Amino acid sequence: MPGGISAPLTAALQAAHSDRVIYDLTGIEAQYDRLVRELPGLQVRFALKACPVDEVMRCLADRGAGFDAASPAEVAQALRTGAPPERIHYGNTVKSDRDIADAHRLGIRTFATDSVEDVTAIAEHACGARVFCRIATSGEGALWGLDRKFGCAPDDAVRVLATARAAGLTPAGLSVHVGSQQMTGEAWQQALETLAATLTALAGQGIVLDHVNLGGGLPALGYRDRHGNRLDPPLDKILTVLREGMERLRELACAPLAFVMEPGRHLVADHGVVRAHVSRLTRRRLPDGADSDWLYLSCGKFNGLYEMDQVTHPLVFPGQPDDRGHVLAIVAGPTCDSDDAYGGGRHPVRVPGAVTSGDPVWILSAGAYATSYMTQGFNGVRPLPCVCVRGAGGAASRGERYGR
Ligand SMILES: *Cc1c(COP(=O)(O)O)cnc(C)c1O
Repeated sequence: MPGGISAPLTAALQAAHSDRVIYDLTGIEAQYDRLVRELPGLQVRFALKACPVDEVMRCLADRGAGFDAASPAEVAQALRTGAPPERIHYGNTVKSDRDIADAHRLGIRTFATDSVEDVTAIAEHACGARVFCRIATSGEGALWGLDRKFGCAPDDAVRVLATARAAGLTPAGLSVHVGSQQMTGEAWQQALETLAATLTALAGQGIVLDHVNLGGGLPALGYRDRHGNRLDPPLDKILTVLREGMERLRELACAPLAFVMEPGRHLVADHGVVRAHVSRLTRRRLPDGADSDWLYLSCGKFNGLYEMDQVTHPLVFPGQPDDRGHVLAIVAGPTCDSDDAYGGGRHPVRVPGAVTSGDPVWILSAGAYATSYMTQGFNGVRPLPCVCVRGAGGAASRGERYGR
């Protein structure tokens, strides 16, 4: 929904008189449908940390999605939505013995791994389970690289999966995560080449996998950069790289190969909007003698906009004339933390000069990681309440549009 707000969101925003985060379920469903249409045969395992909201998860589960869960509590939440355990995997390479045993007791039979230590623990606490090994990527081209903490080198993946087989586990797959909000097709290109080489090396050891997991990282389209320019990720190109890479891996594999992806932000970011309000627009002279305009909002890094230092969410000021009296202001949240600001507090954006305390502001493309990254009581800030709406007869992408 880049560049506009769907009709159900618009209606909900106009009716809202207090702060909240609002999700458009119809928009999320359409986003899911588009992805599985673009990548035929793909099994989606929604990375639920991007939006651990029951209604959102239920509408994805109803459409056939499963979940990438990262803890026993996430497994339990995923099961609550009605997804069967075989559509849920434990996608976190970091887990204790207790976590593994708890997830296994809940019915989980597929686990991510990236080390011999973890595989040995899975063999002990989830006897006979399936494992897929995460291969490390550079994270290059992504806004959030996710490098170093996760994944192993390709030759180490062969060792890890051979250990899994020797321990009575099923070596079932390989995975990657090319970094979150990945802006290039090349990153997946490179990952697909590494996956191909690793599949071949594994086959040389007599290890035949049944799936490849292409991870998360698919971009949202509605963000702007720190300077307020559209990010404009080449989604079509990325999908083409993925489609062609999947085809090549299928040809190369010596047995039927399934494909899994774990999108997070791509499914929800552009279909969630925060309704906040203006705290105050101020002008201060700084010690260097320069005047500085700041727009303080009721919502910031600690109650829904955790990623505001990296991405600028488009702002809509309903009722403010678009054509006159703008100022270049740094937008910041309400807390006593200087990180609680767009672009690290260094990059101003155009805002209407006439806004006053209490005016509503709509913060677009704020659906990913909003509800999960909210602090409990930092400076008295409470998590925003969450509301889900849907369009009549799937009309979410049509009809009245607001915004620029
Ligand atoms: C967070 C996460 C994802 C989702 O990442 P996005 O960039 O939001 O798509 C997918 N897989 C794993 C293992 C993750 O930790």
